[in-house]
Amino acid sequence: MHELAITKSMLDLVLEQAEKAGAKEVEKINLVIGEMTGVVGRCVQFYFDFLSKGTAAEGAALAFKVIPTTAKCLSCHKDFKLGEFDWTCPHCRSNNIEIVGGKELFVESIEVE
Ligand SMILES: [Zn+2]
Repeated sequence: MHELAITKSMLDLVLEQAEKAGAKEVEKINLVIGEMTGVVGRCVQFYFDFLSKGTAAEGAALAFKVIPTTAKCLSCHKDFKLGEFDWTCPHCRSNNIEIVGGKELFVESIEVE
């Protein structure tokens, strides 16, 4: 149910932006979702269709950009894509790592009419 709350705040933000821009209709919403957030695009789409009914964003297309989980090794300072069960650096095998990407969740841009 975590997508419902996310979709609701995303829609509020989009409608606020559309109103500020004086737009009558929102055509497209570009979203960035990090892999680590666990947010499922089709769930967001489902709630969006439901919540946006009767608003300026009704019928808008949702585009999802998924950001893979990436980490930085604190020993050799290299960035790498993190595997699901392998939390060690592929370059030096250190497990002294820090997550640097994959937690993103935001509206990148909207296209209005
Ligand atoms: Zn390393």
